[in-house]
Amino acid sequence: MDFANLTFLVVEDHDFQRRALIRLLRDLGAEHVLEAANGREALDALAARGAPVDAVLCDLDMPEMDGIEFISHLAEQRLAQAIAVVSGMEPSILNTVETMARAYGLQVLGAIAKPLTREALLACLGRFEPRSLASHGTEEELDFTVEDLKAGLGNREFLAFFQPKVSFRTGEVLSVEALVRWFRAGHGVVSPVRFIPRMELEGLVLALTESILEQTCAYLRAWEERGLRLDAAVNVSMLCFSDVGIADRFQRIVQEGGCEPQRITFEVTETEIMGEVAKVLNVLARLRMKGFGLSIDDFGTGYSSLQQLSNVPFTELKIDQSFTKDAPSLPRNRTIVETSLELARKLGLKTVAEGVETRAEWDLLRSLGCDLAQGYFVARPMPGHQILDWAQLWRPPETD
Ligand code: C2E
Ligand code: MG
Ligand code: MG
Repeated sequence: MDFANLTFLVVEDHDFQRRALIRLLRDLGAEHVLEAANGREALDALAARGAPVDAVLCDLDMPEMDGIEFISHLAEQRLAQAIAVVSGMEPSILNTVETMARAYGLQVLGAIAKPLTREALLACLGRFEPRSLASHGTEEELDFTVEDLKAGLGNREFLAFFQPKVSFRTGEVLSVEALVRWFRAGHGVVSPVRFIPRMELEGLVLALTESILEQTCAYLRAWEERGLRLDAAVNVSMLCFSDVGIADRFQRIVQEGGCEPQRITFEVTETEIMGEVAKVLNVLARLRMKGFGLSIDDFGTGYSSLQQLSNVPFTELKIDQSFTKDAPSLPRNRTIVETSLELARKLGLKTVAEGVETRAEWDLLRSLGCDLAQGYFVARPMPGHQILDWAQLWRPPETD
């Protein structure tokens, strides 16, 4: 490939590494190379240039504006055609960034580990395919086939986002719920409510759950290495439980991911708990025996709650957001919330209020003694790499 006609932008905060990268590019024949020490400077340089560049080579861990935020600006403003990530971060994080960049419609040339070598750089740049910047969209695609879902699984396009759960009493961040998003290549982000039912029908949801569990363990370790030890919840479809070997598989994934089962809670949706009762109870009991937590998700929306609660060794009850919503002003919702909390307390279950969106809902649930808050009032689901920064800035509301 002839690099002489392409324009590159190198974004790297370490002077020495930036210079080394530029020198390598020039050795490979590049003639037009812009440089910046962080995302902010890079955006300024692109604005000054007034035209997109062909390829951006970017570090992730930089002051001012980190690489990930920078990449999203690049994509939204169509400032580059292709990107390569040059970083010392661990592979699971690099993979997430690559997938996000691809979903934003950027051509991803790859991730190059540090220290950088000429061979790695050449292999990465060799993937560059000239094409028009206007040809890729970020619109959410409505139609997809089973083949698209399978390809998405193969290409690791299903990424876990994480929504914090905090203690009502102390405000402390204790846990996160993993919520899957489909970063569909060239199509944007697809919500789980759109593809989970289809995956269930097609028998793909187990593979998805395993991937989300792996990603969750990788982030739990990454956050812990940077000083934030959290627990996590992963959603499981009841359909996974038709396979009685699943408890062992989940255990192995968590062990290989360097986590303890005690830190993972599986959220099971209540309405689905029917099906093959014996098998489902078998799996739930075995998960519990291995130390995993079990949460009854969307409590109150199913129809045989009490019976299920007495049969299944649940450890947590999640009040559905339809009841949290407006509980301060709707007596019916408030009654359901109060009764659910009372029931949970008597059964010794931890309680989580889902969908806490307002200060009034926070105050009410807190005064009723609910344990954990989850909802937009605290934070929206976010990519795993944002959790540490968010947790640094999070302050619970002042109590009077
Ligand atoms: P869920 O497990 O009940 O998750 C809570 C949903 O409520 C999430 O939607 C979350 O983004 C949303 N939410 C959180 N706080 C608020 C709030 O304050 N207000 C409002 N209006 N919504 C809030 P999301 O991410 O779209 O997920 C929808 C459902 O898809 C989940 O409901 C869960 O049942 C399913 N799901 C998500 N990820 C997975 C997965 O990995 N596996 C399986 N089997 N199902 C999943
Ligand atoms: Mg859930
Ligand atoms: Mg729920």
